[in-house]
Amino acid sequence: MNCKNESRCKQVSEERFSRMERHLDTANNRLNKFRDAYELGIADLAFDDHAEFRVLWRAFSESQVLEAVLKGEIIESRFKNGEYGFLIWYNIKLAARQYRPMHVSVTMLESNPNFMIITTVYDPRSKEWVWTENYTRRICLCDTREQ
Ligand SMILES: [Zn+2]
Repeated sequence: MNCKNESRCKQVSEERFSRMERHLDTANNRLNKFRDAYELGIADLAFDDHAEFRVLWRAFSESQVLEAVLKGEIIESRFKNGEYGFLIWYNIKLAARQYRPMHVSVTMLESNPNFMIITTVYDPRSKEWVWTENYTRRICLCDTREQ
């Protein structure tokens, strides 16, 4: 598979990113506060228990997912009905000079910033055409419902 309309996807992605960009610092600040609280033992996270996720997350261990949440960077942020949705990007180290890119999608209620739910974990190389070279920016929206 690949992008069905590269120029349109690129344009829509850029518009979407320009609306989202100003929220990314705030989102990463929220994530850092969660990390501080997690280290203090007053925050927690859970894996969403739906079937699709069970299949996908076999590719990564639970400790790798945790590492991505604690060390990665938010590259997409949305807020709807009192709930934040963040997409976290991370490169997990497999061996010396060998890394694997990860995307971890999480949600967090505005009213409960010390609890995070992990909804999806994947290797962005599985849909290479959707991302820029380092997997930090979406450039194809063909398979998303938002378009
Ligand atoms: Zn596309």
